[in-house]
Amino acid sequence: MLSDRYKNDQKPLLTLTKQQQLQKERIQQHIDEKFYTFEEPPCLICNNPSVEILAEKDRYGLPCSTAICQSCGLIQTTPRMNQSSYNHFYNDDHRNLYVGAQSPDLTYINSRIKAAEKTTTYLAEHLSLSGIRILEIGCGIGALLYTLQKRGALVEGIDLSETYLEAGKNHFNLNLHTTDLFQLTPSTTYDLIIYSDVFEHLLDPAAHLQQCKKLLAENGTLFIKVPGVKNIMRPYLNDFLRMLQNAHITYFSADTLTNLLSQNQFSPLHCNEQIMSLWKPHSQAAPAITNYFTQTIRFLKKKENQHLLRNVLSIAYNVKNKLIR
Ligand SMILES: [Zn+2]
Repeated sequence: MLSDRYKNDQKPLLTLTKQQQLQKERIQQHIDEKFYTFEEPPCLICNNPSVEILAEKDRYGLPCSTAICQSCGLIQTTPRMNQSSYNHFYNDDHRNLYVGAQSPDLTYINSRIKAAEKTTTYLAEHLSLSGIRILEIGCGIGALLYTLQKRGALVEGIDLSETYLEAGKNHFNLNLHTTDLFQLTPSTTYDLIIYSDVFEHLLDPAAHLQQCKKLLAENGTLFIKVPGVKNIMRPYLNDFLRMLQNAHITYFSADTLTNLLSQNQFSPLHCNEQIMSLWKPHSQAAPAITNYFTQTIRFLKKKENQHLLRNVLSIAYNVKNKLIR
């Protein structure tokens, strides 16, 4: 474990609203009553079962085991809920815990548009957007597709949440469908397939990558945006524990994402630690997997030591101020 802070003491790191607290208790009850079923698959990249546990709880104080693969360095949630338990979790529990509401309001929609504009700027820097056919997997209300459509792209989105899709259809008048990637029967291929804050939720990312290859046009591009393990400074106040949530299956760095994508015959056009990344499929043999275990553990332990030191200094500073008064 990274430090004692990561023990399963049920204490949340975040300050929860009343609704989030109630939702957390409901999820805990589902876990205690074995309503949710858990599974422990081998590593999603290298298939090795050997892991080192980093954390026993998530940022909400829910029991959630986060581990790092000793053979490749991928950080993943294990044990994790199986697909049918996650389906239930996303339908009933997730939004109330994560967003604090079950349906999107105008504040939420506006915040999504603001985030989408940043992503669209990144995409426009690397690709010509005008006239290209785009599919977004897990598009939610479709804010990103809306901003891409304004740049001249032909957009389409799929999601399993009808509430969010309906809000998107009503608000943006977009071409959105309630389905998953494997049920989709498109009449065309796509120049760009997008996973924006979705890929880290997938139980079988390799299956998604293989399906994307079938749906991408010749010279098509795959875009993946996930929270980056090495980019915790701003979004998570330099605290890895603040990043952890039971809805996330994987936590990537640019290196471990490259490991996964290259095993599935995708090569990088661009990938940063934020992580915003663009990939091209190819048909050459997959390279050997590189092991980033030692490097990743060293990075996380350094960050944790810095966090603990900041806490000590902050306590000392407060004590000194009290004494002076
Ligand atoms: Zn592995």
